[in-house]
Amino acid sequence: MFDRIAQSVAYQKLNLDTTVSVTIKRLDQIHPQISGNKFFKLKYNFLEAQKQGVNKVLTFGGAYSNHIAATAYAAHLFGFKSVGIIRGEELASKALNPTLATAQQFGMQLHFVSRQQYREKTSPVFLEQLQQHYPEHYRIPEGGTNPLAIQGCKEILTVEDRQNYDVICCAVGTGGTMTGIIEASSAHQKVLGFSALKGDFLQRDIQQWTTKKNWQMTDAYCCGGYAKTTPALLQFIQSFENQHHLPLEQVYTAKMMYGLMDLIGQNHFPAGSRILVIHTGGLQGRHIDADRS
Ligand SMILES: *Cc1c(COP(=O)(O)O)cnc(C)c1O
Repeated sequence: MFDRIAQSVAYQKLNLDTTVSVTIKRLDQIHPQISGNKFFKLKYNFLEAQKQGVNKVLTFGGAYSNHIAATAYAAHLFGFKSVGIIRGEELASKALNPTLATAQQFGMQLHFVSRQQYREKTSPVFLEQLQQHYPEHYRIPEGGTNPLAIQGCKEILTVEDRQNYDVICCAVGTGGTMTGIIEASSAHQKVLGFSALKGDFLQRDIQQWTTKKNWQMTDAYCCGGYAKTTPALLQFIQSFENQHHLPLEQVYTAKMMYGLMDLIGQNHFPAGSRILVIHTGGLQGRHIDADRS
């Protein structure tokens, strides 16, 4: 299933008046509800669960989480049961937003917890409680990043991708996707990550997962932090979408593209550079509202 998906991804070359070329790898087209990169992150986790003889998964996320949407759908495909521990107790009594409604349609059981409790999501005590409540569930961390996720993200790059491009760009949340891409990249390539969050802790995370050095990450375009926006970013999205007929969302991919276009404008890349941009999807979350974070 996952293998078939990875092979049908389209490439779109941007029509730009620059000395560099920019090609978009459209992982967003894998599925309307599923972030392209999330599929790669989930693949080996589901295979591992199957190997362990488990057919239930449990994971964590916010009300607009692309990871929740993707996990629900993957569970549906694999014939798994799924549980989503969702941040925000108050949501239990409200109509479900499109992300959660779709997750539920794909069979995910939604378990709402308070923001305070959600913060405990990695504490041994809380995990033990969950374990008792949901025995025999394969647990996937928030955002889905673990060694098996990184293994899956190595498959984002094909042999041609490793040969035909000098620079590979991606959006960064936890860094799992970028690490997989770094691990799969060839030595002559540079992997450039655009963080959706403020802070340099992500640099250290990635350094723990890979020993390769052909990468760089910036948070200069995070627009104030996770899920935050600026008028300039929103305006960029509109003009970019009008010009290139390519959808972006404001949490991840727009910040990456905003940053990349800024760097190109500054002549950051040598003339002739061939840049591959990984469109990681996330478009299901475009109905995002102010309640997000
Ligand atoms: C989750 C997500 C990312 C970030 O992936 P990480 O592996 O957590 O860094 C990037 N883009 C989109 C659209 C996402 O949904």
